[in-house]
Amino acid sequence: MLTVENLEVVYNDVVLTLKGLSLCAGQGRITALLGANGAGKSTTLKAISGLLAGEDGEITDGRILYDGTAINRLPPEKIVRLGVFQVMEGRRVFEDMSVEDNLRCGGVTRPAREFRDGVERVYGYFPRLKERRQQLAGYMSGGEQQMLAIGRALMARPRLLLLDEPSLGLAPLLVEEIFDIIRRVNSEEGVTILLVEQNARAALSVADVGFIMENGRIVLEGSCAELASNPDVQEFYLGMG
Ligand code: ATP
Repeated sequence: MLTVENLEVVYNDVVLTLKGLSLCAGQGRITALLGANGAGKSTTLKAISGLLAGEDGEITDGRILYDGTAINRLPPEKIVRLGVFQVMEGRRVFEDMSVEDNLRCGGVTRPAREFRDGVERVYGYFPRLKERRQQLAGYMSGGEQQMLAIGRALMARPRLLLLDEPSLGLAPLLVEEIFDIIRRVNSEEGVTILLVEQNARAALSVADVGFIMENGRIVLEGSCAELASNPDVQEFYLGMG
């Protein structure tokens, strides 16, 4: 479904950040992209969703194919219309708006008649959002804001969901809850997911396949079972060394 080929990304005309990155995310699967701080994981997601321009970043080589169409030169609004949505790192919700209005914003690309069903569907995944539907998003806890950010993306009925560090800063029980929901969204709705994580253990437990990135390139790939039994992955990413 998604193929990234030899992607090169430069920031501010000088900082070469992705150095020939290739990966793929298979239809209906959960794919994990792992790597240390600064490896280029967020940059990869922004390149796919067309959001690099806003950060003075540019794709200088390679291409991104989505269902056989090259999307690396498309503006973000066209990429969104193809069903590709990114949940940015750091729970970017509209803090001065209610929970439900945040969800409403997520559904703007869909017909109005779908709104009620869409909201109920999201509340089905996140009952806590339903309890707080009238509350201002800025007053929600970090975990609840993360749920809202994911819920808002689901309102748009994505076909490919790009998740940037959904577990960041969350207590272990909440991490489990978020990852359970990611699994459900994938299995119940068939949404393809590309998941960027520093929590390698959680990511490898939820994903089907994984790619490990260092310094702008993929250095290792395989099924999550293979990666979890790889001694280097165990030492450097799972803290088992
Ligand atoms: P983290 O886990 O810390 O978010 P990451 O793997 O997602 O790391 P990126 O955020 O993609 O890494 O950053 C990769 C490199 O690109 C870093 O060296 C970073 O400083 C640089 N970079 C990211 N965004 C910009 C920007 N807007 N302008 C210049 N350099 C940037």
